Amino acid sequence: MSKIYYKSAEEIELIRESAMLVAKTHGEVAKVIAPGIKTIELDKLAETFIRDNGGIPAFLNYGGFPYSLCISLNDQVVHGFPGNHVLKDGDLVSVDCGVILNKYYGDSAFTFAIGEVSDEVKKLMRVTRECLNLGIEKAVVGNRIGDIGYAVQEHAEKNGFGVVKELVGHGVGLKLHEKPEVPNYGRRGSGIKLEEGMVIAIEPMINAGRAGVKFWDDGWTVSTVDKKASAHYEHTVAIKKGKADILSSFEYVDNVLKEKNN
Ligand code: MG
Ligand code: MG
Repeated sequence: MSKIYYKSAEEIELIRESAMLVAKTHGEVAKVIAPGIKTIELDKLAETFIRDNGGIPAFLNYGGFPYSLCISLNDQVVHGFPGNHVLKDGDLVSVDCGVILNKYYGDSAFTFAIGEVSDEVKKLMRVTRECLNLGIEKAVVGNRIGDIGYAVQEHAEKNGFGVVKELVGHGVGLKLHEKPEVPNYGRRGSGIKLEEGMVIAIEPMINAGRAGVKFWDDGWTVSTVDKKASAHYEHTVAIKKGKADILSSFEYVDNVLKEKNN
């Protein structure tokens, strides 16, 4: 799709249904993610849950990607492969999930701490999630795409973290990746105008250290050049007047994690 596809109100509701299935899938992952579990087990659980709920895992076979989830550990930024890695205390795990439901796509990512992580990693998680929220605050009619990127970049860099530039957010809905690109950096007031009917995935990828990343020979995995940790949170968002409409949700995962920590 070379042009921005503006969605009708009905289409936005269908995208919300898909994005909510993604949200619930993250909740299912949250229930079992813990030291001792293999990341491939999370992938299988997610695939089963998505299919049981009438959806199709959107990442599976997308451009040849072989799994339902992208699971990126520690210094991996995005697009990691689930596998036989056994999670251990101190791991940082970003889980990205996409679903097709009734032909519409939802996309959302969440980063989990396994057991006790370092203070630096805790701060990285908090700041990255704040970056996402600050970006979403700018996703309103009348702003421009650069306002989102500026908000994300400013907050990350103010906290001493690096913003990944090689990968960006995107339009989403009829396809997994549509126009426009949604960079996590930019200048205020630059780029295309945000208008009603646009649905975008905002997804800051923030590194504890330097911004640079490297691309692995597997054709997918992206990791930090300095081997420091990276975090990733993503929501599917509809542009509205006054306040963005967040179509995905962290409510399920947050509730599960709250329960687990009590
Ligand atoms: Mg995603
Ligand atoms: Mg995305």
